[in-house]
Amino acid sequence: MKRGVSLRTFLIAPFLLLFLSGVVLIGWISYQNWQASAHQFERRLSDEIGQRIKTNLQQLFNSAATIAHVNRDLLQSRQMGVDDSLAQQRMFALQLYQMPYLTAISFGRPSNEFVAARRARQGTTVHVVLSGQRTRGVLQIYSTGSDDSARDLLYVGESPYDVTETAWFRRAVATGAPSWDDPDHLDSRDGLGFGIGAPVYGAGHALLGVAGVYVGEDQLSRFLEESQSSAHGLSFLMDVHGHLLATSDSSSLFEMRGGDLHRFSASESHEPRIAAAGRELKRSPLTGSRLISIGSENYLLNAIPYEGPDGLKLTIGVLLPEKDFSGMLTDNLRISGLLILLSVVIGTRFGIALTKRVSHPIEEINQYAAQLARGEWDGRPMPDSSVREINSLAHAFDGMAVSLQDMIDNLESRVVERTQELEVVNEKLARLASEDALTGIANRRCFNEVLEREWSRAQRERKPVALLLCDIDYFKAYNDNYGHHEGDMVLRDIARIIAAHARRPLDLAARYGGEEFALVLPGTHLAGALYLAEKLVQAVRDAELEHGYSRAGPIVTLSIGVAALYPLHGEASSRLIQLADVELYHAKDRGRNQVSPRIPGSLEVGS
Ligand code: GH3
Ligand code: MG
Ligand code: MG
Repeated sequence: MKRGVSLRTFLIAPFLLLFLSGVVLIGWISYQNWQASAHQFERRLSDEIGQRIKTNLQQLFNSAATIAHVNRDLLQSRQMGVDDSLAQQRMFALQLYQMPYLTAISFGRPSNEFVAARRARQGTTVHVVLSGQRTRGVLQIYSTGSDDSARDLLYVGESPYDVTETAWFRRAVATGAPSWDDPDHLDSRDGLGFGIGAPVYGAGHALLGVAGVYVGEDQLSRFLEESQSSAHGLSFLMDVHGHLLATSDSSSLFEMRGGDLHRFSASESHEPRIAAAGRELKRSPLTGSRLISIGSENYLLNAIPYEGPDGLKLTIGVLLPEKDFSGMLTDNLRISGLLILLSVVIGTRFGIALTKRVSHPIEEINQYAAQLARGEWDGRPMPDSSVREINSLAHAFDGMAVSLQDMIDNLESRVVERTQELEVVNEKLARLASEDALTGIANRRCFNEVLEREWSRAQRERKPVALLLCDIDYFKAYNDNYGHHEGDMVLRDIARIIAAHARRPLDLAARYGGEEFALVLPGTHLAGALYLAEKLVQAVRDAELEHGYSRAGPIVTLSIGVAALYPLHGEASSRLIQLADVELYHAKDRGRNQVSPRIPGSLEVGS
């Protein structure tokens, strides 16, 4: 028989397969959803930061441009004298106090006169910068007094300073309109700066000077840093040439190479993340957001174009590390994982309980069936199941077992009945085998057996056995004259008389053959046997059965030969028969109707 899988395995396997694949599918879908929403959130946040920087830059550059325009208008309309250095110092310082992200506000004249209010590096202090005839062509930096004008001299430049040679001045003159310049480098003490110059014209379009507003890299970087809201993120500003203008981490934007300024493009930045972003933007200068990997981490890079007043064009770069958002994702995944694990445990337990409920009664039926097959069923009924089909199976099994038991019981009683019948038949057969059909006494076969048995016993017990051989006299004549039927009746009568003389338990009366009978008398001496023989002969006479054709008398008579022996060791029982037969012959010979040998004093024939 094939062993096969157990019912429980067969039931639980597809259940678990379906359940687990469902759980895995749901898990996978929710993971995808979480990931998508985390990315979406990251993109939105990066756009928001970009927009905020853009809006703030707008304000910054707008205010720079506005101040340049206002100062130009004030100077052009003579509300502020072009050569009124003191008024200019006060106005510029005042404006600088109000605009915290601007670095310097200035006015330069073709005659090389230069007045500026300038924010000290790393601070809020405003200084006044002067150059021109009074300073003998070098820059002088003063602290401001209570009226915001120059007070104490702090610094004197080493080399001559010519404002008309500065890039912002020249560009404003060249374009004849307010215009932004490429970032320049004020002097060795200053960092990188970025300015707008507005040319001031007098009557007949004569150039009176250029009003400038300047934003230094440190201000821009501080500005970026404050607009940035993500703790691990970075932002940077690039000009149209891809050169860095500011970074939120204040990393350096340039270096001096042999006295010349070398500005870094984003890809040259010392900050590796900005350098990677710069390389990526160089490779694919598209705006919008994209995922890039820097080292072992992923970042979302967002490049946002910015167009300011007076032709200002910049690119804002925002970098956000993915791990800030994947943290959110892993938290959610952990919760989902726990929920999935919990549902797997509950689902599996539920599945096992369910399959147990189905398989247990079937296993029990199986066990019962095996017991029944071994014939060991104890008759207790099958337990009830909550599954309808199993219940009806159990009941059907109960019914089957009961009818099988009935059948077995029935069979057993029929076997008992048949056995009894058989015993009766056997008994009958045995009797038939040892009984003479006509007379109903023992037949010759039975006689042989009994004589043999008693002969052996007498040998063992050293006891005598006596035998009477009886023969009806002139019976042929009887038959011939009265007929066979009448002869049979006589045979029956004689048999009954002989049987009546077998009194002791071991005595046997038998039909020896034809009209001859025998009486086996175990443990009987010759004298006893002769006595019984005489009584028998007399009893036949007394029966007075008519026999008109006998020469021995008018009735049926009997001749008996008697022999008795103590059987010797090795002596055959046929010896006893021989002796009795010889005696029977003598009885016949002496005239029949008598016993031989004769005992003195015994009854004479006819008496
Ligand atoms: P004896 O006095 O010398 O014994 O003479 P008998 O005629 O009796 O002896 P015999 O041997 O010549 O005859 C025996 C007869 O017994 C022959 C037969 O007709 C008769 N006989 C034997 N068996 C049966 C039987 O079963 N039924 C009947 N009716 N007669 C039988
Ligand atoms: Mg005879
Ligand atoms: Mg005879």
